[in-house]
Amino acid sequence: MTTPLQRRYVDQILVMLGKEPAKPRQAGEFTARAIKVHELKRMTNKADIEAAKEAHRANERNHKWRNRRWATLIFANLLFVVSFYFDIQILEGALTASRFVGFHLIDLNSALQVMLAHKHIITNLLIGTGTVLVLWILVGGRSFCSWICPYHLLAEWAENIHLWLVKKKLVTDTPIDRRLRTVFWIVFALLAIVTGYTVYESISPTGIISRALIYGGSALALLWVLALLVFEVFFVRRAWCRYACPIGLTYGVVGIVTPLRIKYTVEGCFHEGDCRKVCLVPHVLDTVIKGRAVDTEVPIGPDCTRCGLCVDTCPTGSLQFDVKGLAKLM
Ligand code: SF4
Ligand code: SF4
Repeated sequence: MTTPLQRRYVDQILVMLGKEPAKPRQAGEFTARAIKVHELKRMTNKADIEAAKEAHRANERNHKWRNRRWATLIFANLLFVVSFYFDIQILEGALTASRFVGFHLIDLNSALQVMLAHKHIITNLLIGTGTVLVLWILVGGRSFCSWICPYHLLAEWAENIHLWLVKKKLVTDTPIDRRLRTVFWIVFALLAIVTGYTVYESISPTGIISRALIYGGSALALLWVLALLVFEVFFVRRAWCRYACPIGLTYGVVGIVTPLRIKYTVEGCFHEGDCRKVCLVPHVLDTVIKGRAVDTEVPIGPDCTRCGLCVDTCPTGSLQFDVKGLAKLM
């Protein structure tokens, strides 16, 4: 007999692969506590809720997690640059393959692509990947995206411009089918097998920017990254990260078992949806829509990048970083 949270857990994995989040409909899909909270909320005076929402929105928005994340991302990428320029051998190589004070670190997606291209398991790669796998299991699979990936930072700035243009009605966002990312993942894996070459690495904005920062980049590769950003500003919000990048999906799979996640608590939530507006992957936050939480506390799914924007934005503190089995982080 599975519990509502276990069923939701499986559903979150399918949502990461492209399924649209579904509204739980039958009473058996909710815990008794969740049903009680939903009933209480239905009885609350709507005018009171609207007044409380406005009062909270008037408060200055907090950027605590965003600032910490930007500082970490810039520091990690600068450490590569500084290590190379001053030859201090703290962090050698680039994001795809590096050595941190002697420990080999190999990006999980790159290692997978290399092994598929060579069609056998390479022991040295496996050792370097093992360290990285343990690290990202501990700190949350897609945390790699928002806390380390240099493309994420540029795309986040491009996203802010895109949202400003949308607000001014100068452009419109054109969402694409999210299943496309799973298709891309399969296509790049097949390309590696068929060609014996890691095709994805030559177009990965993550690798291109990381190498460009350290060694200087090829103009053509940088133009490709620029074209992606321009496309995201004028046409599709966060197109690469949402609908194409296989690295995001690989780290998302790692995040299925990670203890560090965002936890949603339904009691104080106004369901005004500010968190979904700032989220790169709003499908993971379907549980905050009124009447959808299957329990009073719901962990957010593995496609979440642990960026903390929803935590900064939520006016009632209903979304928080949490380590499974440990007390709330902050
Ligand atoms: S989805 Fe890809 S490009 Fe986007 S942040 Fe993650 S690794 Fe970087
Ligand atoms: S759910 Fe929150 S932490 Fe996760 S990606 Fe969305 S905004 Fe970031």
